[in-house]
Amino acid sequence: MTTIIRNVFIGLSNSKFLNSQAKKWGFFLGADKFVAGTTISGVVETVKELNAKGISCTLDNLGEFAVDKQEATEAKAHILEILNAIDNEQLDCHLSVKLTQLGLNLDQQFCIDTMKDILEVAERYDIFVNIDMEHYSYYEMTLDVLDALREQYNNVGTVIQSYLYRAVDDLARLNNVRIRIVKGAYKEDSDVAYQDNQDIDRHFITLAKHRLLGDTFTSIATHDHRIINELKTFVDEHGISTDRFEFQMLYGFRNDMQEKLAREGYPFCTYIPFGRDWFGYFMRRLAERPQNINLMLKDALYTEDNTLKTWPVIAGSAIAATAAVVFWRRKR
Ligand SMILES: Cc1cc2nc3c(=O)[nH]c(=O)nc-3n(C[C@H](O)[C@H](O)[C@H](O)COP(=O)(O)OP(=O)(O)OC[C@H]3O[C@@H](n4cnc5c(N)ncnc54)[C@H](O)[C@@H]3O)c2cc1C
Repeated sequence: MTTIIRNVFIGLSNSKFLNSQAKKWGFFLGADKFVAGTTISGVVETVKELNAKGISCTLDNLGEFAVDKQEATEAKAHILEILNAIDNEQLDCHLSVKLTQLGLNLDQQFCIDTMKDILEVAERYDIFVNIDMEHYSYYEMTLDVLDALREQYNNVGTVIQSYLYRAVDDLARLNNVRIRIVKGAYKEDSDVAYQDNQDIDRHFITLAKHRLLGDTFTSIATHDHRIINELKTFVDEHGISTDRFEFQMLYGFRNDMQEKLAREGYPFCTYIPFGRDWFGYFMRRLAERPQNINLMLKDALYTEDNTLKTWPVIAGSAIAATAAVVFWRRKR
């Protein structure tokens, strides 16, 4: 059942129709708990609040799969504005980008050139840029783009997903590149990825421990307290310096734990997505954890004094009907 629910939400995250509609509708279903608004000025305030608590941030200008080069160029312009804001406000903050937002799905060389424009400005401001890892169909291309960029820039790194069998080899090859380790958020085939959570978790811990023993900076990105506790012990036992790693979590998730880790003196970074293109990101978060769906439903259906709202029921029914039509059409 969990797998079916996961697949449905991942399917919804990929729906071009729903993604484009959601941009017009604005936030609903409680998405604002996990997405920090739509404006740069708003997100700057969020970063300042977290920085004041000793938490650094990484900003993600939400969006994926540019439909044409014009859209990718607009995304680049927005990202450059974010870099200016980080520098102007002297925020403790770096950037996360998705290459399909910058045209990887259209033209690889165009995407490399676009990234170079971004890295040029980021380098001037001494800001690190992390390339998020997307679905496996973009994996090789993403690593190729990274290689091309690394010929010229050091302020760029990427993500390794522990659900991939090949993660160990790729991590070894990228041993001098700053890396974020995650479990992996997409639906991947058993040809390339572990399907069992225990395998994914075990692999995550192996990858993280391997990196922690090396010299290059690693971001350990998970909300999983079991993994975090095991790695905290490992760090203590091996006397690993806190300038070699950080823990990362997504904005809006386990806020108490985020602050506790920072208070305990662990370097901590919150990944903050913001912008109008929230739907795909939000659906992937719902796919990850049934409890997130409960939170979403509660938020969508009830007011704070527990009264049933009417419009979300109508909107929800409309989405469900649209989703059913989308899947039915796809199946034919
Ligand atoms: C900072 C960051 C960046 C990411 N970047 C990418 C990326 O570039 N590419 C990509 O594919 N994926 C990315 N992801 C998503 C990642 O791959 C996982 O899909 C996602 O983090 C869920 O896995 P998890 O490790 O957090 O733990 P899960 O496997 O979701 O949870 C494990 C256990 O932790 C506990 N737990 C988890 N969440 C909560 C909660 N909210 N409250 C209470 N308990 C909880 C529960 O006991 C749960 O069973 C990123 C994740 C983070 C945190």
